Amino acid sequence: MSNGLYQQLECRCGAICLLACGTPLGMASTAAGEAVTLWSREVVQICQGLDDLDSREEASGGDVQACRHCGEALLVQHDEVGVVVVPWASVDNDSAAAMMATSTRERLEALGYRF
Ligand SMILES: [Zn+2]
Repeated sequence: MSNGLYQQLECRCGAICLLACGTPLGMASTAAGEAVTLWSREVVQICQGLDDLDSREEASGGDVQACRHCGEALLVQHDEVGVVVVPWASVDNDSAAAMMATSTRERLEALGYRF
């Protein structure tokens, strides 16, 4: 199960479509308790609606990319860690967790994510 995993995500109104390919770095919960999937920045692409993305800086760190039509946040970009956080969780957790370097994990924990 290490190849061919991908996650596709659409916002509520369908204007934006996001695609992450490969193996996720891992899964976590946000400080608010929301389940998220963590991906390396390189494997996440916007397949539709790039012009409709609205970027804002999150107080806790990272850039939130949300749909400017329906307001749904599709991803949080943590450039300093090279990680993109996507609100979804249906992936193979065991293989995913091993992919993340301890340093990356620690930096994400400092940003409020829980593993
Ligand atoms: Zn939308």
